[in-house]
Amino acid sequence: MNKVCNVIVVGGGPAGIATTLALLSAGFKVIMIEQSDYNEIRVGEHLLPAAKLLLTQLGVPRDVWDRKCLHCSEVQSAWGTSKLIYNESIWNPYGGGLILNRSYFDSKLADYAMQCGAVVYKNTAFITCRQLENGWICELRRNDEVFHLKAGFLIDATGRSAKVVKSLGYKPEEYDKLICVAGFCKPLQPHYPVEQCVLLEACKDGWWYSIRLFDGRIVATYMTDIDILTDSHKQPLEFWIERLHESQYTCSRLNAYETASEVHVRPSQSHKLENVYGDGWLAVGDAAMSCDPLSSAGILKGLKMGINAAQALELHLNNDSGALARYDEQAKEDYCTYLKKRAYYYRFVTRWPKSKFWTRRHSHLPEDTPIYLDPMIAISLSENVILPGDYSLLNNVISNIDVEMIFKLASPAKPSHQLVSLYKKQSNCQQLDREIILTMQFLIESGYLEISNQGNQYPEAINLRTLF
Ligand SMILES: Cc1cc2nc3c(=O)[nH]c(=O)nc-3n(C[C@H](O)[C@H](O)[C@H](O)COP(=O)(O)OP(=O)(O)OC[C@H]3O[C@@H](n4cnc5c(N)ncnc54)[C@H](O)[C@@H]3O)c2cc1C
Repeated sequence: MNKVCNVIVVGGGPAGIATTLALLSAGFKVIMIEQSDYNEIRVGEHLLPAAKLLLTQLGVPRDVWDRKCLHCSEVQSAWGTSKLIYNESIWNPYGGGLILNRSYFDSKLADYAMQCGAVVYKNTAFITCRQLENGWICELRRNDEVFHLKAGFLIDATGRSAKVVKSLGYKPEEYDKLICVAGFCKPLQPHYPVEQCVLLEACKDGWWYSIRLFDGRIVATYMTDIDILTDSHKQPLEFWIERLHESQYTCSRLNAYETASEVHVRPSQSHKLENVYGDGWLAVGDAAMSCDPLSSAGILKGLKMGINAAQALELHLNNDSGALARYDEQAKEDYCTYLKKRAYYYRFVTRWPKSKFWTRRHSHLPEDTPIYLDPMIAISLSENVILPGDYSLLNNVISNIDVEMIFKLASPAKPSHQLVSLYKKQSNCQQLDREIILTMQFLIESGYLEISNQGNQYPEAINLRTLF
């Protein structure tokens, strides 16, 4: 195949558009197929600061992506404990993130790809494909008309549905059954003050995130597992309202808004294809691997994979026989890093010992966890910890350490080295100092212990949705 042959990119989300733009600038002819006209509701509104750099790298002018969006000044989260933690974007070297209108953002990027020379078929769905001697023939449908297009190379950018690779017989491996239930609410008063933050809140069988949009509405999304929704025997809207009333901060934020009259349920699972390329095809974005919305990194990942995929394809066609395999290796490495971080963040929530949702997501602290705690730093008990309490779920994460004894010793505050020696003395235990120190680090990161006199300055690791 040479560059005058078409590459067909199926799917016009962030990953498909980034791939298209990067291929165009490398001199390829590209056809992009998109099933919608971008007028439907799209979820995933928070653009991480680093994604702005990639859009610039792709040559997209700022006014294409910087409209109808809000600047996101901070992320607030009530995660390990019920205390709200603030993470201001002023500390981020890339500045703040953006809160997008996703349909508008995707649609403007697609128009820009057209301006750059891509042939874009909107309202056109990929049905199936067949491999030819030197390329592909794709069956597509627009309204009721079925037609065919030939391609030298095929790229699956159809998001979590992974339509192209599934039609070839490959199935992504799923790591969970996460879904989202999203409601859009209008403000009760038209000029309600703008709060441009992302709010995250852990609850009994899932977690909430809410974001105020450019048009004044707020999107409040409950993340849970599909069986938790179906076992509730509730309609999604009823389930959403019930869970909203169980929340503290999300519910109070939504007091200024009308209740949603409908909700949207979407798959949100983490999954990955075993190999993200094959003979004459490769996958990008969520079609290749999808991440938990907790990471807020799906758009960033889609843009990055699009750029990498175009580079790999160009090298491959220039007889670099290992280029696609290296693209695949990079994806495997990135996914492995992602899974570790996902486990790390979910481990923090141990407040609901009987919750299916949280126990499913718990695993022990890895043995190679690094120690960074300063022995001289004073540690105190967080005001959220109630003694005596049921801290049995913490044992899923930390075995062999009596967490409640550490809590008692940390009130009043003491230097961490003193806590370790007191714990060893009182518990008469055989544990290594390392195990006790790691436990204390974990209890600080998850909000049970506090670094005394440090206000809200938690270690970076707790900065959910910005440093994932
Ligand atoms: C609840 C939720 C919240 C999220 N929040 C965030 C967030 O705050 N920040 C963030 O960065 N990410 C977030 N994400 C993830 C993010 O939305 C995705 O990772 C990102 O959209 C992936 O981009 P993509 O281009 O790979 O896939 P998609 O955006 O899913 O695009 C796929 C495209 O393919 C098209 N398509 C599908 N099937 C066909 C077909 N048969 N024929 C033609 N076209 C087809 C679709 O119409 C769509 O345009 C969230 C995800 C969920 C579920």
